[in-house]
Amino acid sequence: MNPRGFLSVAIVSGVFLALALAVPVARAQRPTAAPAPPKLAVVISVDGLTHDRLELYRPWYVAGLKRLLEESHIEQSARYRHLNTETGPGHSSLSTGAPPRVTGIVANRWFEQAADGSLRGLNCVDRSAPEGPPGNPPWFYRTFEKDGRLHVFAQGSALEEWEASGDSGRAVIRPGYGPKGETVIFDSEDAIVRFNLENGRPKESFPSSRVAPGPGALRVPTLGDRLVEQEPGARVVTLSAKDRSSIFMAGRDAHHAAYWYDQDSGRFVTSPFYSPRAAARAVVDTFNKDAGALLPARFGLVWKRLPPPEPLTLLPLARPTPVPNLQDYQLPSNGLGWDHPLTVHPRGYFSSLYYSPFIDELVADLALAFLQNETLGLGRRTKTDMLWLSFSAQDVVSHSYGPESEENLDVLRRLDLQIGRVLGALERTLPKGSVVLALSADHGMPVIPEAEHQRNPSFKGGRLLTADRAFPTLVERLNRLLAVELCLDPATRVIFGGEGFNLTYNRPAFPFRTVAGTCGPAGAAVQGRDVDRVLPGVMTRFYGEEVLSVYLASERERWPQGDPATEFVVNDFDPERSGDAMFIPRYGVMTHWDPARGTMHGTHYDYDTHVPLLFWGGPFRKEEVTTEATPYDLAPTLAAVLGVELKTAVGTSRLHAR
Ligand SMILES: [Zn+2]
Repeated sequence: MNPRGFLSVAIVSGVFLALALAVPVARAQRPTAAPAPPKLAVVISVDGLTHDRLELYRPWYVAGLKRLLEESHIEQSARYRHLNTETGPGHSSLSTGAPPRVTGIVANRWFEQAADGSLRGLNCVDRSAPEGPPGNPPWFYRTFEKDGRLHVFAQGSALEEWEASGDSGRAVIRPGYGPKGETVIFDSEDAIVRFNLENGRPKESFPSSRVAPGPGALRVPTLGDRLVEQEPGARVVTLSAKDRSSIFMAGRDAHHAAYWYDQDSGRFVTSPFYSPRAAARAVVDTFNKDAGALLPARFGLVWKRLPPPEPLTLLPLARPTPVPNLQDYQLPSNGLGWDHPLTVHPRGYFSSLYYSPFIDELVADLALAFLQNETLGLGRRTKTDMLWLSFSAQDVVSHSYGPESEENLDVLRRLDLQIGRVLGALERTLPKGSVVLALSADHGMPVIPEAEHQRNPSFKGGRLLTADRAFPTLVERLNRLLAVELCLDPATRVIFGGEGFNLTYNRPAFPFRTVAGTCGPAGAAVQGRDVDRVLPGVMTRFYGEEVLSVYLASERERWPQGDPATEFVVNDFDPERSGDAMFIPRYGVMTHWDPARGTMHGTHYDYDTHVPLLFWGGPFRKEEVTTEATPYDLAPTLAAVLGVELKTAVGTSRLHAR
């Protein structure tokens, strides 16, 4: 080897050596590989919780809320951007990442025009099966021929029972009803409804059975729907006291285990639309049998305030500062004043629980039963699972007693303990790092306006009546005013109905005919456009104290772009469901069925729109983020963490938001 050759080898070796030395250094400087995505996503929705109230009582929390507030990525400026901030719209926004203009859930109820032109009021969960293009999961429906009889099932549980035992439970038998004249055995009245539809038979309705609640009105998939589509076998469990919360957190896949509390039976139920796996059903069946039957023993007959925290915190404890006679403005769902008897609710004990903080405890109990179930193995499998919990007590108790009440503080203190139990169960049952959790709310809650006026005489808020029989409602008054304005018979029902801040005209009855008077001779036609012409003026003249402005559906191409309320109207607008006019309330004004008691959310003001939004576990670390966010960001954020595609979302991931 010549010297030159030696030299070049030495140089090359030196380069190798340098590279070899450099590599570990470079590796150390590179960020570590992304950890595996969490195997369980948990979402907690606290029904009716404003951001500020959660913060106000922070020194009181000793368990779950304390931990979440101390350890989470907290979005301080998360606000809904739609009008009609209600439970159905809010929960569908949380699960889909989109406002009502996309989800179609524009309020808890609305009016829809049928093909025959008639109008009918619909609850947001009144439509069980999705309608639309193929590909949507079907309403559960199976038929089997056996021994010359036709067995028809609309309930997965009845089918399984039949397969196991040959007995389909409470069956309806119709001899000769089949297409070949065979006897048909239905598992339920829902099965008859669907059978008639499939076989071109005349429709039947069953007044005794309510419409099976379901997600049929939801226009887009939820995060859970997309997860299951992308990862077949993934499990989605949603639990709440309310059907609409559970249904809209779950979505349109019929295998989701969506359960809610039934005030008639004190049990958790689902609808025939859903056909959860046998293991999920077994969890609920056992729970209903073991815990449900023992509710009075579990919760007692009185709701007492929790004692002060032990040991006493050093922080000053913010207390509610209600006016001395707040009770005059409260709805006595569980009586007035401490202690609250659980024996006075007109619908009985199970409803008393629904209107108390114990309903949250029951939802947490069932959540723990799901987490501990080995067969389901939520979060402990190769698939990703989701558990959505909606705690309703904050909402129902605030509606009756006001968010400024001691009752509401007690609800939050007890919820803190329940969330603590859920966090504890997650840590006991799942490997570290396998959970990501998000917490938010479906809407906020204003204080009781009459009580607020007593505290602060310059407070201008109030209520527009929607249902009280002793006084004319907003719609009844508007109809009288519009009849005068349009020269109609005083009994004319120009507006068919109002829900939230939406008004729907009595379209099937158009045109109305004028009576003789200031408008000229009788018989002139009055159409919807004539109502459009006079409604804003009537509102301004007679409701100027309560109503800021009116948005007509027919004018939507010309809605004022500069008005800050416009965005909230646009985001809640669905041409088939929003009706003909939406009105913007003044600050502190609500629509309510009681003339002077209780409170109601729904507006576009901060007290209804500014809600908590926080993320815990998974890739999130403790930080406070103040840039503008929305609760529509919750689903896209979890989608980003879990690697799920959610194209219909409008919100954006807050994973890297600072
Ligand atoms: Zn709600």
